[in-house]
Amino acid sequence: MQFSSNVEKLKPSATIAVSTLAKKLAAEGRDIINLSAGEPDFDTPAFISDSAIAGIRDGRTRYTPPAGMPELRAAIARHLSDRSGRECVAEGVVVTAGAKQALFNTIFALFGPGDEVLIAAPYWTTYPDLVTIARAEPVEVFGAEDRDFKVTPAELDAALTDSTRGLIVNSPSNPTGAVYTLDELRAIADWCREHGVWLISDEIYRDIHHDGDSATPGILDLPADTLGPFVLIDGASKGYAMTGWRIGFSYTEPELARKFTALQSQMTSNAATPSQMAALAAFSDRPQAEASQRTMGEAFRRRRDLVVARMAELLPEVAFVQPAGAFYLFFRVDGFFDDEVQDATAWCSALLEREGVALVPGAAFGDDRWVRLSFATSDDVLEDAFRRMASMVGAAR
Ligand code: PMP
Repeated sequence: MQFSSNVEKLKPSATIAVSTLAKKLAAEGRDIINLSAGEPDFDTPAFISDSAIAGIRDGRTRYTPPAGMPELRAAIARHLSDRSGRECVAEGVVVTAGAKQALFNTIFALFGPGDEVLIAAPYWTTYPDLVTIARAEPVEVFGAEDRDFKVTPAELDAALTDSTRGLIVNSPSNPTGAVYTLDELRAIADWCREHGVWLISDEIYRDIHHDGDSATPGILDLPADTLGPFVLIDGASKGYAMTGWRIGFSYTEPELARKFTALQSQMTSNAATPSQMAALAAFSDRPQAEASQRTMGEAFRRRRDLVVARMAELLPEVAFVQPAGAFYLFFRVDGFFDDEVQDATAWCSALLEREGVALVPGAAFGDDRWVRLSFATSDDVLEDAFRRMASMVGAAR
């Protein structure tokens, strides 16, 4: 079939593809452990779901303004202000159908043919594809492995050209779990401001962190004069276990927020109204939100400790990034490559075939010597997965 050039190069999301294959094998009766998914395994906290249900009963089932219900935009602005100590305005907030749509709005509104967009790598699989949809050029910038792949101004300098217009960073990172310190973020923000480059900071995993109690740093924590043109991307999906509700948001200058709103008004209009009612509870009822995040956070931290311990015990020769946030373990499997298995894609297929464990190969994130394991599942399932991986690796040793 002949498609338009708009979608000629488009491929389905690589992480969703693995997840779909694992689900298909499980439906066929195979005993599959699926550690490829990118979502919390918890149910949405009841106070959030209840707010949506009450909203539906109350007739909150019609269109809202395309940028979201005024009270939700205000609640998000208040949430951002409280967290950063900087005054954030509701006019800068655009509520979207998931953080993915906020990223689409941003990339499509800011970049086009002839523009280069730097992407800190390894990266979440969707970034380069969104840049390509906008007909701009994605440029991968890898940080050093011994710095948990976090990029520095020196690496950005090496990638800078006259066409560089934007930089996408993601902390805590999917797929590595690395977290940028405030100083590291400041260096990046300085670099972007000095070079007139848009800083797009995806902070969707900000509430999921494993070391210390305070939230991981975000760009709004930086002094106002440090931050040049920026778009903050965040949402309810990960921190409130709300992936299926599809609520994300962007925060930026009101002038740009109005352009995002115009774009969205021609494509999807508002994010689903009952989902906005749910998000209103998540972003405004701080005591309940914090209590549920504490409970989920304790489970994530315990699982992080578990997977790190099992790596040391069962796969001691394997390099991995110590996850400080999010719920992913990123580890290196090229030590197991042989004549038959020459990249992580083949290694993951063999693991799924022989041991029934689904991981995502690093090809989805820019380096196919690595794989990503999601530890958003129960301790027992993780223990079983590590036994199976050790068995596969043991057979190869
Ligand atoms: N950014 C990152 C880094 C992600 O991992 C994801 C989800 N996998 C998203 C954005 C998209 O989030 P949402 O489900 O809210 O669209």
